[in-house]
Amino acid sequence: MSDSAPRVVIVGGGFGGLAAAKALRKTDAQVVLVDRQNHHLFQPLLYQVATSVLSPGQIASPIRGILRNQRNTTVILGEVTGVDIDRRRVFADSIDREGVALEYDYLVLATGASHSYFGHDEFARFAPGLKSLADAVSIRNHILRAFEQAEAEEDPKRHRDLLTFVLVGAGPTGVEMAGALAILVRSMLQSEFRRIDPTLARIVLADMAPRVLGTFAESLSAAARTRLDELGVEVRLGHGVEMIDADGVIVGGERIASKTVIWTAGVAPSPAGKWLKAPTDRAGRVRVQPDLSVPGHPEIFVVGDTASLDQDGHPLAGVAQVAMQQGRYAGTAIHRRLAGESARPPFRYFDKGTMAVVGKGFAVLQSGRLRLSGFLAWLAWAAIHLEFLAQSSLRVSVFVQWVWTYLTGQRGARLIVNHHGPATGDSPDTHAETGQIGAQR
Ligand SMILES: Cc1cc2nc3c(=O)[nH]c(=O)nc-3n(C[C@H](O)[C@H](O)[C@H](O)COP(=O)(O)OP(=O)(O)OC[C@H]3O[C@@H](n4cnc5c(N)ncnc54)[C@H](O)[C@@H]3O)c2cc1C
Repeated sequence: MSDSAPRVVIVGGGFGGLAAAKALRKTDAQVVLVDRQNHHLFQPLLYQVATSVLSPGQIASPIRGILRNQRNTTVILGEVTGVDIDRRRVFADSIDREGVALEYDYLVLATGASHSYFGHDEFARFAPGLKSLADAVSIRNHILRAFEQAEAEEDPKRHRDLLTFVLVGAGPTGVEMAGALAILVRSMLQSEFRRIDPTLARIVLADMAPRVLGTFAESLSAAARTRLDELGVEVRLGHGVEMIDADGVIVGGERIASKTVIWTAGVAPSPAGKWLKAPTDRAGRVRVQPDLSVPGHPEIFVVGDTASLDQDGHPLAGVAQVAMQQGRYAGTAIHRRLAGESARPPFRYFDKGTMAVVGKGFAVLQSGRLRLSGFLAWLAWAAIHLEFLAQSSLRVSVFVQWVWTYLTGQRGARLIVNHHGPATGDSPDTHAETGQIGAQR
């Protein structure tokens, strides 16, 4: 690869960015992938880290490890802070330097999304969201600590507050978290505590929507709801959360005392639209052209959760498949231009379906006209999630862990890990770092 080869900068090593990088593996170009994390994260399984089924290392892989055989690609750990579209430069803060300029001939922005508290940013302090590995470990700490605190508490009246868990947002993430929490408390923890009865733990799932899993067919929403009821999850629908503070939440005028509130609703895109000063949709996602480029800038592509594109009159959802297919499309489009080949037809998303798990051995699946709920859907969910993990070592490890957990009920990583923070209380690992993705999924 010569130094004069064109430079392609990709920002983000998530589903979209990684797919773009892989599509450029045979391109005569210098590809630079910048991410503020050193790892690619499989977000769909974050809830399993938060509920102690899997450990962080089972759902994330170092980006440079994934791309180690791709000789034309350099991976840089850095946080992008802006783009100079006129001079074709990206600015990034690295570990010890600020505003390092990276020149590009082509740019792919795949910076994903973060939490949105719908204008109530003050909720973030008390209701962390689930978006990063740090979020998942923090929530896991919080949940496990609540049980420890209750066991150490002599006054049984306080057990109830400590063991009330409220999830705000009944999209797939909220439903999956609620189901996994219910299984955690009603199976494994039951035999291990003496003063408290973990089965008395209360799990409340609240949403202002009229049904859970609002983006799924009504029959699947109903099946998921029935399953949640069987698992003992209290579902509160039709009321927004009015207040979240250190003592719990107020929903529909009723205060629910709780020491653990988790935000599973609402996403905000990354600031890519502001960097580019490009048109955005109401949510702030960059409005891209049918070929995923930014209007007036055929050399800049935006893909995944931070892009906005309508297909057949509807905006594409913020899901992993959209990001992967768009990333692959953008990478291939750049490859073809550099190779002097003709342009591809406009991007078209191929919807393979959506699914959500509700507790052990039960999922709902919607694909085209197919509607499936129950064990078969869960098997399909498990197979598809294993297939899309980034590396085969993770596939083996997660498969073995799932079989073990399924057969024995034992969880993998039930550890409270304080990252040099105080042993109890709400910080630093209960940081409200940012977001969640519930509204999209
Ligand atoms: C809890 C949860 C569960 C989910 N479950 C599912 C599911 O079951 N099925 C499904 O299809 N989808 C699911 N999703 C949605 C799916 O994960 C996203 O749609 C997908 O990750 C979007 O891909 P992306 O490449 O746009 O962004 P991401 O995968 O989020 O990647 C963005 C990358 O950009 C990096 N980045 C961001 N800003 C900067 C910056 N300024 N500088 C440098 N790097 C930056 C980030 O570190 C990250 O690596 C879930 C999401 C969450 C949070």
